[in-house]
Amino acid sequence: MVAVKAETESTKKKELVHSPILTYFSVITLLSTCPPFVILLWYTMVHQDGSILNTFNYLKEHGIEGFVNLWPKPTAVAWKIIACYALFEAALLLWLPGKTVEGPISPTGNKPVYKANGVLAYAVTLVTYISLWWFGIFNPTVVYDHLGEIYSALIFGSLIFCVFLYIKGHLAPSSTDSGSSGNIIFDFYWGMELYPRIGKNFDIKVFTNCRFGMMSWAVLAVTYCIKQYKTNGKVADSMLVNTVLMLVYITKFFWWEAGYWNTMDIAHDRAGFYICWGCLVWVPSIYTSPGMYLVNHPANLGTQLAIAILIAGILTNGKSLVWGKAPSKIVASYTTTKGETKTSLLLTSGWWGFSRHFHYVPEIMAAFFWTVPALFDNFLPYFYFVFLTILLFDRAKRDDDRCRSKYGKYWKTYCTKVPYRIVPGIY
Ligand code: NDP
Repeated sequence: MVAVKAETESTKKKELVHSPILTYFSVITLLSTCPPFVILLWYTMVHQDGSILNTFNYLKEHGIEGFVNLWPKPTAVAWKIIACYALFEAALLLWLPGKTVEGPISPTGNKPVYKANGVLAYAVTLVTYISLWWFGIFNPTVVYDHLGEIYSALIFGSLIFCVFLYIKGHLAPSSTDSGSSGNIIFDFYWGMELYPRIGKNFDIKVFTNCRFGMMSWAVLAVTYCIKQYKTNGKVADSMLVNTVLMLVYITKFFWWEAGYWNTMDIAHDRAGFYICWGCLVWVPSIYTSPGMYLVNHPANLGTQLAIAILIAGILTNGKSLVWGKAPSKIVASYTTTKGETKTSLLLTSGWWGFSRHFHYVPEIMAAFFWTVPALFDNFLPYFYFVFLTILLFDRAKRDDDRCRSKYGKYWKTYCTKVPYRIVPGIY
């Protein structure tokens, strides 16, 4: 145990992790390329057999006009599907019962209060969706058949939503955990408010990240299965392995949802394009893409291989225990913007003694295992796996920088004891 006095704080507004030029470049690149990328990915998966080369040749032949023509217009059906889903999830968030839980103390000393009803909302959503199909009230294949239009509507609708967040952040912030960086692009991209709410109980980030984004992942995974079943009369073992592994991951997420409210996404990243547009558009499209690909590519793995991949994938979702021993830790204090001194415990045993973000490794491996049923004919189904690896390596650096500025010499001590960020000996 180490007990030295903290000298720094990390409660200021968003600080730049990289140089200003690199930050500007990456922010503007992401703002301009993510929306068309979502459409190109969908188009390649659904209309070009997952082949990047086919899409490249199409674009080479037809140029910008070809690209405009392949971009589906947001139709009334798409808006209706999104509206029904969003209203349903909002109602569940507000009205399903749940234990009251407190989030971590914020940089300005606020403690957000939530209703933990995620597991119930998840169960109600899946049971309702499957029942609507089973009883012939709604056919999920409609969702797959209008997927491009749905993504198109989500892209534009979510951009407008981020403008709303920007204006709300300026005019009517929900708490003192809000503020401008003085730069309109960063305010739009990173967001202004840490805990934006509508009224007292409707937490916008819980809605966008958990109940819209993560929930849509499960709903779309089931949709892809049903679409394949309707088209081929059966569900291939590759699709089953992919869907089961994704659902295990998402079920675990909702089981742990109140824990998620303590992570960087909720407790540190503000509500803007990065987090909210990401969860409203990037999660339903990119995260679900291995399943999207499998709909038209029902590879047969054979029982042995299917079971082997399934077991390997489930094992990567293992629990992070402190290995049966009393945990060793650093007692670290830090100062909030209000000048109050608070204390946190920095774990130095178990996985957190192995490397500072070792838990990113099983996350990346799980993504690999639910993609591998797509086999190796095309690279594109592996895009999410590659993207996640880059995202988590960057995140480990961002978190490190934030913790260094928050905990000062305590973090230095932790880094001396546990020198690697993710993979011991490598990074
Ligand atoms: P963590 O849950 O590890 O949260 C990081 C925070 O934990 C730090 O900011 C710090 O917060 C605290 N902390 C850091 N080191 C220690 C320590 N040694 N002991 C105690 N507390 C510590 O990380 P993430 O929020 O990045 O990830 C949460 C999960 O979500 C992971 O499993 C990750 O794989 C997953 N994830 C998935 C993504 C996806 O797109 N699929 C994207 C991002 C994450 P404090 O200031 O409060 O002390």
